[in-house]
Amino acid sequence: MYLSYVILFDVLVVGGGLAGLTSALDLQKKGYSVLVFEKLAYPHHKVCGEYVSMEAVPYLDYLGISLLDAVSINKMVLSTLKGRTLQADLAMGGVGISRYTLDNRLYLKAREVGVMFVFESVVSVIFQRETFIIKTEKGTVYHAKVAIGAYGKRSALDKQLQRGFKGEKSPWLAVKAHYKLDGFPDDTVALHNFRGGYGGLSKTESGAVNFCYLVSYESFKEVKSIAHFNKNVVSKNPFLGQFLEEAQQLFPAPETIGQVGFEKKSAVENHIIMCGDTAGLIHPLCGNGMAMAIHSAKIAAETIDCFFREMAYSRNQMEKDYTKQWRKTFGRRLWLGRNLQSLLLHEKSLEVVVQLASKSPSLIKSLISNTHGKTIRF
Ligand SMILES: Cc1cc2nc3c(=O)[nH]c(=O)nc-3n(C[C@H](O)[C@H](O)[C@H](O)COP(=O)(O)OP(=O)(O)OC[C@H]3O[C@@H](n4cnc5c(N)ncnc54)[C@H](O)[C@@H]3O)c2cc1C
Repeated sequence: MYLSYVILFDVLVVGGGLAGLTSALDLQKKGYSVLVFEKLAYPHHKVCGEYVSMEAVPYLDYLGISLLDAVSINKMVLSTLKGRTLQADLAMGGVGISRYTLDNRLYLKAREVGVMFVFESVVSVIFQRETFIIKTEKGTVYHAKVAIGAYGKRSALDKQLQRGFKGEKSPWLAVKAHYKLDGFPDDTVALHNFRGGYGGLSKTESGAVNFCYLVSYESFKEVKSIAHFNKNVVSKNPFLGQFLEEAQQLFPAPETIGQVGFEKKSAVENHIIMCGDTAGLIHPLCGNGMAMAIHSAKIAAETIDCFFREMAYSRNQMEKDYTKQWRKTFGRRLWLGRNLQSLLLHEKSLEVVVQLASKSPSLIKSLISNTHGKTIRF
């Protein structure tokens, strides 16, 4: 006779990026059994500007993730296609660290505290009789009391979960590579505009300069390759032109992602607590998505902790509280990011704004502080 049994985890986390790893680490430290599903092995590069707002750094430190080797950044430069520039101090500032290092550091710490990992893609999440049933691409099935969705901007899972935006094609794609360039300032994150997009430059812990840009398909579709696009469109911005001329690309080929969407999403879907980009992506120019992913993971860990500890705190209440907290913490920033992005991509308006803002440091200061949050409290 065969005995079959099911292991019931407290929490299953779909996606081991910043949001998934942070929530797993926090919940495991709080004493729960956590299993993370991640489709890629660590370490791996990710398309991202790699500027982490300072608001997330003390909480990461509390979780045992030191960023002492990261590059300290406290200045911002913005340039228009015509080469007009705006410079500002970043009041809170941030650090430059590659996702290759940061995600891997979180992964190693999570494993150290007992988080378990399955390196397979999740194909379905079903909620039945107060239990989540998660199935992977290999057909293996796992069970848990709570599920966190932290699978990033877009995944086939959105379709399985019948999320509202599943059918809409996103008009954005993103490109990133590391470069070697002596003399690039450590303390500066630069944002440069070009036709149909914009790109960020900042240093990482390895000394490499990360160049990451977001561009509309509309602008990209006329050219044959990234090299061609860099030469003929991106380089029209004089600063980017000079950078691409002088810097030496360190990746064999740039990393790319398509279907980068900024649509509104729900913070809870089919009883799954959504974290990071799965709940909503802020426009990259705000340099805040990573801090938001980390912060949303903390809010999720606290709400889930309450659900497990307090008998009278229902699942329904947990879902309501998480949604409310999420909107209160990130709603305003997302709205502002959306509006700023439209401005940044409109050449003439941007020229005017840069001209005005360079005469009004308080305007730029207020914009920067409103797209960022306060230091995450723990
Ligand atoms: C061009 C660009 C530049 C940016 N620059 C910055 C910046 O400078 N600063 C900043 O703070 N933010 C920036 N962001 C935003 C930031 O990258 C994201 O907000 C952040 O990565 C969100 O983390 P996450 O954990 O939600 O998602 P991710 O880091 O994308 O992690 C999701 C994980 O889920 C895994 N996964 C997906 N589907 C499945 C599945 N079915 N099964 C198992 N695993 C799965 C993926 O492999 C991935 O590892 C930028 C974004 C873009 C597009």
